[in-house]
Amino acid sequence: MRFAHTNPLHLDVFQSVVRFEAEVVAMTAALLGSKEKAYGGQVCGNMTSGGTESILLALKSSRDYMKSKKGITRPEMIIPESAHSAYDKAAQYFNIKLCRVPVTREFQADVKAIKRRIKKNTILIVGSAPGFPHGIIDPIEELGQLASSFGICFHVDLCLGGFVLPFARKLGYPVPPFDFSVEGVTSISVDVHKYGLAPKGTSVVLYRNHDIRKHQFVAVTEWSGGLYVSPTIAGSRPGSLIAGAWAAMMSLGLEGYLENTRVIMEVSKRIQKGIKEIPELFIIGRPDMTIVAFGSDAVDIFEVNDILSSKGWHLNALQRPNSIHICVTLQHGPVVEEFLKDLKDSVQTVKENPGPVSGGLAPIYGAAGKMPDRVLVKDLLVDFMDSTC
Ligand SMILES: *Cc1c(COP(=O)(O)O)cnc(C)c1O
Repeated sequence: MRFAHTNPLHLDVFQSVVRFEAEVVAMTAALLGSKEKAYGGQVCGNMTSGGTESILLALKSSRDYMKSKKGITRPEMIIPESAHSAYDKAAQYFNIKLCRVPVTREFQADVKAIKRRIKKNTILIVGSAPGFPHGIIDPIEELGQLASSFGICFHVDLCLGGFVLPFARKLGYPVPPFDFSVEGVTSISVDVHKYGLAPKGTSVVLYRNHDIRKHQFVAVTEWSGGLYVSPTIAGSRPGSLIAGAWAAMMSLGLEGYLENTRVIMEVSKRIQKGIKEIPELFIIGRPDMTIVAFGSDAVDIFEVNDILSSKGWHLNALQRPNSIHICVTLQHGPVVEEFLKDLKDSVQTVKENPGPVSGGLAPIYGAAGKMPDRVLVKDLLVDFMDSTC
């Protein structure tokens, strides 16, 4: 509340908010390798409104950096198909041609396939640690080598993993290198508002050095409104969210994140074990962290999901292959056995009632009075969005 009316656009007035932002960026960077080896002192960044804005800015900066460095005017970028939709958004906004490459059987970025698609005007490749759909870490070191050898940018998407992986490693989990300690990584997006437990609307974009980040800023010197310099997409920005992120990080501290990570990693392992005990289900790839995706060859997994929804669980529906995932948070600790029981029961119900089922998200339709024979999650989402827009 104390910072609800502050705005870091006026940095001479709201000096404490400016300092909060600098400290959130510095603390986040320190978690992600800024202090290691030769890279100390160069890593820099800003707070943004979320993962999408961090990604948009990293791509805009990389595009303009590659233009100044290599004269590329028709930029292209290559992403694994598991990379977040924000890259499509960036491609559309910034006129970058997007090339989406299938993942390997392990559901990781296919480094060889990406290499084959690199052209003279490729500006950037992407790796996620982990990717949103299946929670699997791409081979960041190999992608870094590839980017280095072609002299192009490499963005690592740590939106989900940034506040988990450094701690999971400390706890002894096998975590491959994923941050600025990997040569070739030029930028990173990391969401304070996910596992950083900060209020929604907070993320950090980081760059290996100032040379890249300087392309992020817009500076207007000729405006009658005076000298205008803005680092991010928004002009005025909410100082309260920046203060909220700072407060979240300071109150949790390294010990807080470590303890949270210990709990959610254990819950994730328990869920994986529980799913393996349900013969109709299979887990997609080998989850590296706290996102577990699973599908089925025996039952319609979306019907399972609908029944789970009617029991109060809200998992994300995925496609290619059809599957659903759970993103484990602290709330799941006390209810993990209940979840596994509901999951097992839901699978059983679908198995015993093949074909159309009612339930799941049906209450939304029920209120409108009419139930379609078979609710497709995809159709439902579109209807739902139409009705809320
Ligand atoms: C959540 C997420 C994003 C996008 O972040 P928003 O905060 O929803 O804009 C990008 N990449 C990954 C891997 C994510 O998990």
